[in-house]
Amino acid sequence: MTKREQLDELNKYWQENCKCELKKTATQAVFGDGNVNAEVVFIGEAPGKKEDEIGKPFVGAAGKFLDEMLSGIKMKRGDIYITNIVKYRPPNNRDPEPKEKEDCNEWLISELKIISPKIIIFLGRHSMTRFFPTDKISEIHGKLLIKYISELDRKQAFLPLYHPAAALYNGGMRETLIKDFNKIPKALEKLKNN
Ligand code: URA
Repeated sequence: MTKREQLDELNKYWQENCKCELKKTATQAVFGDGNVNAEVVFIGEAPGKKEDEIGKPFVGAAGKFLDEMLSGIKMKRGDIYITNIVKYRPPNNRDPEPKEKEDCNEWLISELKIISPKIIIFLGRHSMTRFFPTDKISEIHGKLLIKYISELDRKQAFLPLYHPAAALYNGGMRETLIKDFNKIPKALEKLKNN
C-alpha cells in the first residue's frame, strides 16, 4: 500500500472510531494535509473556524502567515505535511482539553509512523507538550531537539516554534517565530548529513 492509501485508510478508520467529544460540535474532521513523502511535518493545535468549514488544516489567517514563512525558506505547502493534535474544532476555538488530546492521540501517532519525517515542527505549546511535557515553549523554541519516542520506536528530531496565530499580531513574538522558522533548512541539512 502507498503512504497515501495508508493515510486514507487511517483517516477513514478514525473518522468512524475517534471518541473525541469535539466530534459532536465540529462540522467535520480536519485531516492532515500535504505531501505524504515530506521530510518536514508541522503539528498545530486544533482546527479553527475556517478549517472546520473547509476541512483542511491551516487555511485561515495563521495558515496564510505560515505560507509566507514557507516561501521565505523557498518551500511551499506541497513540500510539507501538516496536521493537528486534535482533528476537530473546539467550540469558539478554546484550547483542546487533555481528554480531547488523548482521544485523538493514536490517530496522530499513526500518521507520524506512516509519514516518518526527518523533522517534526511544533506549532505552539500544545503540540510541543505532547512530546516534551515538562518543557516551556518560551525556553525551547528554535532549538533542534532529538529524542527517542517509544510510540514511534525511533529517535526523532523536533523543532519547537511559537504558534503562528499567537505570533501574528505580536511584534516581538512574530520576529522570533520568523527567525526560528528560518532555521528549518539548516536543521534539515544537519539531519541529512548525520
Ligand atoms: N491553528 C491550528 O493550530 N491549526 C489549524 O489547523 C488552524 C489554526
